[in-house]
Amino acid sequence: MSPSHGKRGGDNSVKLKLREDKKVAIPLGSDGKAHFRLRQVMVPPGQRVVLAKDFDPGFTGGCKDKQASVEQLAANVRLLSELQEKLYAQDSYALLLIFQGIDAAGKDGAIQHVLSGVNPQGCHVTSFKVPSEEELDHDYLWRATKALPARGMIGIFNRSHYEEVLVVRVHPELLTRQRLPPKLLDKRIWDRRFEEIRNFERYLTQNGVVILKFFLNLSREEQRERFIARIDEPAKHWKFSLGDYEERRFWDDYQDAYSDMLSNTSTPWAPWFVIPADHKWFSRLAISMVICEALESLDLKFPRLEKERRRALAGVRAELKRER
Ligand code: AMP
Ligand code: MG
Repeated sequence: MSPSHGKRGGDNSVKLKLREDKKVAIPLGSDGKAHFRLRQVMVPPGQRVVLAKDFDPGFTGGCKDKQASVEQLAANVRLLSELQEKLYAQDSYALLLIFQGIDAAGKDGAIQHVLSGVNPQGCHVTSFKVPSEEELDHDYLWRATKALPARGMIGIFNRSHYEEVLVVRVHPELLTRQRLPPKLLDKRIWDRRFEEIRNFERYLTQNGVVILKFFLNLSREEQRERFIARIDEPAKHWKFSLGDYEERRFWDDYQDAYSDMLSNTSTPWAPWFVIPADHKWFSRLAISMVICEALESLDLKFPRLEKERRRALAGVRAELKRER
């Protein structure tokens, strides 16, 4: 079943103008051939995808050279810093970056590295944890709404409202805690949530919020190795929780929930990107490419002052020059 994205009353103005065929060349010492195209990491809106079949967590676009990708990432971080300054100065669009992924997929590290060049004043990270009592007293989009970025700002969601069709779906007892009216707790609740989320995001994009969603796609084997590393290295102990290990038992349920989420909520206005996550250096590079591409497509400009105001500034300048 393909999700309906509702054309009625719509226009194309909220469609992100990404160049899906854009080739991302990764300069290499050895064969110089590594590249990937944006569309290789994008979930086509309206299309049913199955993670295990359609996306490879180990994909690197043929790049074996971590060093080359690190240099490209550094260039993107610099570009992102310039683009953010314009986003902030123009004060018209907001950028919302959503990160989802299983434990140890590398969400925190990706946020840290990709956004390392961004002015902290122009960006805000929200980590969504198990909902508080107050949050449970509201509809599930309430806390996401409160954390939305203002115009000119970059808002980062480390986990998000999507947990509501992931962990809550895998563990139905979490849904019970939400105290919804019993007649709303039928089998169609997940389809309704997908629709609600699509509509919520469409509303946001029609009001100037640009939304990019990244699912960090980690393999079961790589998660195992990262967990072992977290146990073996004392400096990583804090990152490991027994709960994370217990969630591993639900691996297949999560894979199904992720596939369903991606199939139903990748839209022309807020697409999902499935970021291969077995190689951290590649996932960071891919994420930075997508963000730069999206911001460049907005054609951001520093605001140009009115003629009157420019004349006033010229007057002030002349006076300052005369001052001694
Ligand atoms: P971490 O991101 O490792 O700090 O863990 C946060 C935990 O909060 C994860 O286990 C999430 O699954 C959980 N969490 C986040 N949002 C929700 C939600 N809406 N309902 C239930 N659990 C959630
Ligand atoms: Mg965790």
